[in-house]
Amino acid sequence: MKYKNFPMVPRVVFGRGSFSQLKEILMPKRRNAEAPFIFLVDDVFEDDKKMLSRIPLMFNDQIVFIPTEEEPKTDQVDVLVDRIKDSNSETPSGIIGIGGGTVMDLAKAVAIMLTSPGKAEDYQGWDLVKREAVYHVGIPTISGTGAEVSRTTVLTGPERKLGINSDFTPFDQVVLDPELTAGVPKDQWFYTGMDCFIHCIESLNGTYLNAFSQSYGEKAEELCKEVFYNGNLSEEESQDKLMMASWHGGMSIAYSQVGVAHAMSYGLSYVLGTKHGIGNCIVFDHLEEFYPEGVAIFKKMKEKYQIELPTGICANLTDEEFDTMINVSMGMDPLWENACGENWKEKITPEKLRSLYEKM
Ligand code: NAD
Ligand code: ZN
Repeated sequence: MKYKNFPMVPRVVFGRGSFSQLKEILMPKRRNAEAPFIFLVDDVFEDDKKMLSRIPLMFNDQIVFIPTEEEPKTDQVDVLVDRIKDSNSETPSGIIGIGGGTVMDLAKAVAIMLTSPGKAEDYQGWDLVKREAVYHVGIPTISGTGAEVSRTTVLTGPERKLGINSDFTPFDQVVLDPELTAGVPKDQWFYTGMDCFIHCIESLNGTYLNAFSQSYGEKAEELCKEVFYNGNLSEEESQDKLMMASWHGGMSIAYSQVGVAHAMSYGLSYVLGTKHGIGNCIVFDHLEEFYPEGVAIFKKMKEKYQIELPTGICANLTDEEFDTMINVSMGMDPLWENACGENWKEKITPEKLRSLYEKM
């Protein structure tokens, strides 16, 4: 047995209003006036003057607004990297991602590709990155994915949807300011928050579970229940706790694995472009046989917040599309092995997955 030597985010600030400390955090990392900081910012903030005025721009620093209708793509990373290289004589002092999982993953990938040769798609996989990335900072504005702490950046490439998993992927610095999540619309808050809840359920009910993952997973699940289930929290408490749930949920899966909902959600995403948070919710809603308690609580939370999930999204798929969806999902071996054990193929057949997808 070889145990993972897991890199952690070395520096983190937590606190309401801590975003204001960004200037002093970045200052010692600024190499010179020609080596700018590039701020990748979720375009939801494009007209938010107050937010933008708090970004500590100096010299040639740039803000690049990132659209989030679609999840990050490898060629999007390549375009951003080329643009940054073309418009600066020096490698940037740092890449700062301000947004949700989409923007944080892009920031990690751009930081890696600024120092690694070739294209982003060449690095989709495990431990293919050999060079240290540019200094990179993650500042979440919505809580749940755990992308702020993880060792991966999930990208859709020409051939596959797969992360750049490497020791150089995690952020050098994270700023956790729960106030930044204040404007998240209710449905999106639920979908991304449930990504965290589902991380916990899949980790805690998996065969890969160990005391490390369990300790983080249990804490994250408890926080999710406080936020989404037991109620009675002020808005501030709820924002604070969900931000920490996301962090702990990410730490939990770091040393175990996700499971059935993520494996099936990847299939939806690949064929239909369904986004991660809502896709996980659509799948998880039908997984009583795998996670009876988790799904029962999920349904109650969904009802409490009057969340209407889309239905019939697989109704018009052709046989070929179903086959692609099933192949993508069944290709996620470690997720299935975690969920159902070494002999998972005895239980999880293409017919089984087709019958589940047909319900969605
Ligand atoms: P997202 O980043 O796509 O954001 C969802 C929506 O919320 C967007 O429309 C965005 O504009 C909006 N939003 C964000 N902050 C806001 C704010 N403060 N106010 C108002 N609106 C705001 O969604 P997400 O669920 O955070 O991330 C999903 C992505 O994360 C996927 O691409 C997925 O693959 C990735 N992911 C990565 C990891 C990892 O470990 N790297 C883990 C899970 C998911
Ligand atoms: Zn997830």
